[in-house]
Amino acid sequence: MRFSALRVIKEALTGHKGWQPLWRNPDPQPAYDFVIVGGGGHGLATAYYLSTTFRKARIAVLEKGWLGQGNIGRNTTIIRSNYLLPGNQPFYEFSMKLWEGLEQAFNFNAMVSQRGIVNLFHSDGQRDAYRRRGNAVLLSGADAELLDRDQLRAMIPFLNFDNTRFPIKGGLSQRRAGTARHDGVAWGYARGADLAGVDLIQNCEVTGFRIAQGRVLGVETSRGYIGAGKVGVAVAGMTSQVMAKAGLRLPIESHVLQAFVSEGLKPVIPGVITFGAGHFYISQSDKGGLVFGGDIDGYNSYAQRGNLAVIEDVAEGGMALMPMIGRARLLRIWGGIMDMSMDGSPIIDRTPVEGLYLNAGWCYGGFKATPASGYAFAHLLATDTPHDTARAFRLDRFAKGHVIDEKGAGAQPNLH
Ligand SMILES: Cc1cc2nc3c(=O)[nH]c(=O)nc-3n(C[C@H](O)[C@H](O)[C@H](O)COP(=O)(O)OP(=O)(O)OC[C@H]3O[C@@H](n4cnc5c(N)ncnc54)[C@H](O)[C@@H]3O)c2cc1C
Repeated sequence: MRFSALRVIKEALTGHKGWQPLWRNPDPQPAYDFVIVGGGGHGLATAYYLSTTFRKARIAVLEKGWLGQGNIGRNTTIIRSNYLLPGNQPFYEFSMKLWEGLEQAFNFNAMVSQRGIVNLFHSDGQRDAYRRRGNAVLLSGADAELLDRDQLRAMIPFLNFDNTRFPIKGGLSQRRAGTARHDGVAWGYARGADLAGVDLIQNCEVTGFRIAQGRVLGVETSRGYIGAGKVGVAVAGMTSQVMAKAGLRLPIESHVLQAFVSEGLKPVIPGVITFGAGHFYISQSDKGGLVFGGDIDGYNSYAQRGNLAVIEDVAEGGMALMPMIGRARLLRIWGGIMDMSMDGSPIIDRTPVEGLYLNAGWCYGGFKATPASGYAFAHLLATDTPHDTARAFRLDRFAKGHVIDEKGAGAQPNLH
């Protein structure tokens, strides 16, 4: 079933009786050529590109719950490619290009909206740092623009420009950045993969790996043993626990990150805005809710909900930036488990176990990476060579000192 305007009109006129489920619900086969562990954004995108672009078959995605129950359906939906470091920037720009053609490619409305982002700066030093980042973005061929205070006043007049403690001096803008409907992205990739023959197996938890002579042979699951030629693990916040079952200890910690949504308001926020004097970012969903967030809770956790201290901190950030937010009622809060790496950048690599591959360490920022991450991981699984834009995301970079520390925070996963 293909989606189109014509189809929507036809279904509207015939009582919506022709819609079909977006994917099948198959039982697991005894063995596959490729087993992807984790039915989040990255696992589903990997299976999609593996089957459609790299023309591989006999692929399964194993998800312990339902597709999209993890961070892919819990994030604040921001997409952008305004990274500084050469290890990161080409990868995120590749992802942005994939976002730009994604809905046509997988024929699903993921509500990709290039409404722009502005990262505010509040001091001369911060302006210099943002100018440097903007120049790096421009040099890589992506878009960036430094806006002054007057341009910002005209664009987002409701910000607290007269706050003497955090004066807004300008902002770094990327007009091609924006938002996408997070669970629509999971559903689009799932549907696309299913149409290409991938078995999406829900309620199937991977409980162990069968490994002989240093090579993975398959996975133990809550639905029995499944043999595999190659196994790709993309389980985000559960990475340390799952990879421990293969005997691997990783440079990753799990932390909870919360998201907040207000009641629906009339359109007020034109794009994504980030506060530079605290950790606070905000956009407005198409339903009208203000969608915002801040820091991780700062302690290790596998809970999908956080604590009051961060709620207060995020509310303070919002009030300092745009006092009118104090009039909006908070509707929903939730949390997701973040796979925080030691340098704040991801890992897309082989592991010391032959046939076992890892996609992890996405920290706060893995949603925007979903298309490129899926593509690069599929490339690695299909060809055993890294994708050009993901060469730096090696597992051994922590041992060798080739870290990609975008924030310059050092080996402190709670600070990235
Ligand atoms: C509150 C919040 C806000 C965020 N905001 C942004 C943002 O604005 N922009 C941005 O770029 N990023 C953002 N992120 C980060 C982004 O959402 C994640 O980095 C990204 O979604 C992680 O990849 P994923 O989609 O594959 O993870 P997930 O969706 O978590 O997928 C992992 C899947 O693995 C499954 N799994 C785990 N263990 C097993 C097992 N043993 N067997 C089988 N399956 C298993 C889980 O059930 C889960 O479905 C945010 C995250 C959160 C929580």
